[in-house]
Amino acid sequence: MAKMDAGRFAYFDGSIVPIEDAKVSILTHAFNYGTGVFEGIRGYYSAAEGKVLIFRLHEHVERLARSCKIMCMDIQETPEDLARICCELVKRNGYKEDVYLRPIVYKSEHSLGPKLKGIESKFCCWNIKLGDYVNVDTGLDVCVSSWRRVSDNAIPARAKTTGSYVNSALARTEAEQAGFDEAIVLREDGTVSEGSAMNIFVVNNGKLITPPENGDLLVGITRNSVMEIASAELGLPVVERPIARTELYGCDELFFTGTGAQVAPVRSVDRRLIGDGKPGPISKKLQDIYFEAVQGKIAKYRRWCTPVE
Ligand code: PMP
Repeated sequence: MAKMDAGRFAYFDGSIVPIEDAKVSILTHAFNYGTGVFEGIRGYYSAAEGKVLIFRLHEHVERLARSCKIMCMDIQETPEDLARICCELVKRNGYKEDVYLRPIVYKSEHSLGPKLKGIESKFCCWNIKLGDYVNVDTGLDVCVSSWRRVSDNAIPARAKTTGSYVNSALARTEAEQAGFDEAIVLREDGTVSEGSAMNIFVVNNGKLITPPENGDLLVGITRNSVMEIASAELGLPVVERPIARTELYGCDELFFTGTGAQVAPVRSVDRRLIGDGKPGPISKKLQDIYFEAVQGKIAKYRRWCTPVE
């Protein structure tokens, strides 16, 4: 993502305020120690309905609440409040295009020492307009990173902590500096975890394979959506198991999933073409259905869309 053009309003310190007033001090615990947890949520503008539809808002606020538990964070807002605030913010910013929301719970106290208990936390949220975060059309050229995924027992990926994105930034930077679009990051045991900010799926012999939930990764909401679509709409078996690096090179298809990445086919790994170097048929089908679902066009998946009224 390049420089951001933030919406006019943000939620900060208990209310919606002009973005210029949403500022934290350099003394803030989270700024010093990376003690924040966050979400990335997309809203898709439906021209037909004249509304933004927020995708899987409730699952995102629930995941945020679970992250808060892991990081010993208590805030005054309930998950229902957070969902309402997200909707209100999109409404106040008046977007009539696709948007992205970034709710953050952070250790707001000005206190010394990297501990968690007894340190005050606050909730804030910003909102921008956002088109594609990565190329979803022609396929990405990716590499296997020399950086390892930080283990869940060191910094829990499950908690989506701000601090753990140092790991993502190192992997993504290395990939870009070497001329790739994105990185695939391995775990300490050498099996595949995920991309810098996205989950990964291999397609082999008509089967979808993805690393398991306890595989040092963020259990993605897009991952879950695509797994449901794959089995319900395409009748594909979905297998969660560790994936070896070498399986990537010879697989039939490969794609990433994520709120930012959406469903993004990969066309090469470490300069080896995947299939014929074009997005594969299963990846394309899943992507098409996913895009219809997020735009509220599939009745069955309408439960995933929260309209901003
Ligand atoms: N892994 C990481 C490290 C991420 O940052 C993201 C993006 N939130 C994902 C996976 C995908 O998760 P989701 O589909 O819930 O956005």
